[in-house]
This record gives sequence, C-alpha cells and structure tokens, in this order.
Amino acid sequence: MAMALKDKVVLITGGNSGIGEAVTRRFIQEGAKVSIIGRSIETLKKMKAEFGEEILINQGDVSKYEDNERAVQATVEQFGKLDVFVANAGVFDGFAKFADVAPDALSDAYDFLIDINVKGSFFGAKAALEELQKSNGNIIFTVSGASFYPDGGGVWYTASKHAQIGLMRQLAFELAPNIRVNAVAPGGTLTALSVIPPLRPFVKIVDNETKANSIKKRNPLQLAQLPEDHVAAYVLLASDAARAITGEVISSDGGLSVRGL
Ligand code: NAD
Repeated sequence: MAMALKDKVVLITGGNSGIGEAVTRRFIQEGAKVSIIGRSIETLKKMKAEFGEEILINQGDVSKYEDNERAVQATVEQFGKLDVFVANAGVFDGFAKFADVAPDALSDAYDFLIDINVKGSFFGAKAALEELQKSNGNIIFTVSGASFYPDGGGVWYTASKHAQIGLMRQLAFELAPNIRVNAVAPGGTLTALSVIPPLRPFVKIVDNETKANSIKKRNPLQLAQLPEDHVAAYVLLASDAARAITGEVISSDGGLSVRGL
C-alpha cells in the first residue's frame, strides 16, 4: 500500500512518549519527516538515535510561545516546510476531587494544568499558522473522552479538554478554506501521563494493573487501550485522503458513547 504521508512534514508536541511517540513512529513509517517537541532530553535523544535523519528533536515547553516558535522555525529550516501540526502534549489531574483540594492549591493547580493543556494548544497552533497557510496544511489536537463525558478526570482536566474542543471548532471555522483542523479523542490509555505536582497531595497514584482493569471496565469494547490503538485516526486526519474533513473529532475510545446506563 502507498505511504499515506509521503513527503509530509509534521510537528508533534509530546512526540517523545505515550500517544505522541506512537504517532511519531507511525508517521515516519508512512513516509513523513517528523519534528518533535518534548521536555525530557533523554527520551528526545532516544528518538533521535532511533530515527536519525527522519526526525528533528526540540527541547521546549509548549506553554511558552517562543519555544513553539523556535520549534516551527527549526522544522522549516531542516525539512523545508510544515504540513501538519499535532498539539498532543498534556498533563493530568489524577481525578483530584474538587471538594478535597485545599483552597491554597487552587491557583497553582489551575495555572499548571491549563497552561499546558490549553495555552500550549493555543500557542502551538498560532506558532504553526503561517507555515500551515503556505502549505494548505492541517492541525490535529489530542483531546480526550474527557472532552465530552464526566469522570475522565477531575474538573481541571475535564475543563481543559472541553476547552480544546472550542479551540478546534473555532479554528476550523476561521482557517477554512486553507487549513483543516480536527481532533482525536482517545479513551483511557496505558501511558505515563503525569499528574501535575500541585494536585499530587490530593490523589492516589495507581499502578498500571489497576489502571488497565479500570480502563477495561469503562468501555464497551473492554479494551485496555495502548497508544498504538489510536494512530490510525491521526494518519487519516493528517493525510490528503481527509481533504473534506474539518471541525471533526474521531473518538478512539472503545465505544464510550454507546455505554448506556
Ligand atoms: P505522556 O505523558 O506519555 O505524553 C505527554 C507528553 O507531553 C510527554 O512527553 C510530556 O513530557 C509532554 N509534555 C507535558 N507537558 C509539556 C510541556 N509543558 N511542554 C512540552 N511537552 C510537555 O501521556 P499521553 O497519555 O501519551 O498523553 C498525550 C495526550 O493524550 C495528552 O494530551 C493527554 O491529555 C491525551 N490523552 C491521554 C489519555 C490517557 O489515558 N493516557 C486519554 C485521552 C487523552
């Protein structure tokens, strides 16, 4: 089968672990050159050692506009253009209960999580915009089941993932007809998605087996989903085969919407 992303240039935030890493691997197999932004230099270097010329690594913080801008510039310098931006980096609230969190932790918790999940998505999209306009490219946001349903996290995470949907829809409207804007909504997935430090005193960190069992119980297909389970949705949205799709979310969640009562 022909490669779906041959000669495409893609920038992925958080492409050095979990869902972002799986998407990076698959996009490279599909013929793309991939540039990734991440915080951990060790995992970034590991990806560089594995993929060599096919990948560019950028250490940065998505909640800082200049780090997004620097990564876009470096990507275009290295690979000549930008076709796809994937806003994927994110952090979690560990299902912290609103009633349990002390008032003096509220401001830090809000800033920490919203800065990465929401501001990071705004900044990345803005930094990529000019190059995507030149290439008639597209944007994909990693949202979540928590973008639609309660109990995919606490209020911090759920509010942040709802906010990304608003950003995606309005951008799809404003940026048409040049740029398509879509999202993938994974359900609970076995990754090391980290709980933000200000909320750690208020949550129970669970081991992977407990997490796998709880994820399985929540979706009708009873899948303890892995990052690789979601990559096909990203390939479709990123590719020219999806030229008529914008403002859409592909849920990749084992059927959360058909759970019933
Ligand atoms: P992960 O921790 O493996 O990946 C997140 C990546 O984002 C990491 O590489 C992390 O270092 C990076 N990151 C976090 N803050 C950053 C910052 N300020 N600057 C740059 N990079 C930063 O976890 P994951 O589960 O693969 O998460 C990826 C996305 O998937 C997130 O947006 C998350 O909300 C979403 N998601 C995860 C699940 C799940 O159950 N794991 C479910 C639905 C949606």
